[in-house]
Amino acid sequence: MSSFYADSMLGKLSRYLRFLGFDTLYRTTESVDEMLQVSEDDDRIVLSRSRDVFQSCSKRKIQTLLISNVDVSGQLKEIKDNFNANFVYPPLKMRCSVCNGDLKEKSKLDILNRIPEGTAMNYDDFWECSKCFQIYWLGSHWEDIKKTISEL
Ligand SMILES: [Zn+2]
Repeated sequence: MSSFYADSMLGKLSRYLRFLGFDTLYRTTESVDEMLQVSEDDDRIVLSRSRDVFQSCSKRKIQTLLISNVDVSGQLKEIKDNFNANFVYPPLKMRCSVCNGDLKEKSKLDILNRIPEGTAMNYDDFWECSKCFQIYWLGSHWEDIKKTISEL
């Protein structure tokens, strides 16, 4: 499974990739040089909308994809077409959309006091981020993700 480093401006795409289980870093305060160095060291594919970044990667032989679409579904399709990435619903593995940590399944009883009552009534499957402890469930935003994937 490929891992990625998404350039700034690709925040939504990185959240989608994390939900779909792809190890994805997102550049916020890091410099372009730092992003390239980490990608070189960790063997990450750099995703960027900048031709300059794309060219710097090519020079250093770092795998890269120049993203041309502005909408997330077009961007996911570019990744799918270029790297044969398999987007499945529900994903086999998920990562935290906030920090890229691994999500671990949790029993509802264990996290009952940390979720809204309505959520507890409507959902049975929960995950917790192993790094920042955010709780996840396949809530309504998943309908958008599911729809987006099915249309790729
Ligand atoms: Zn997290």
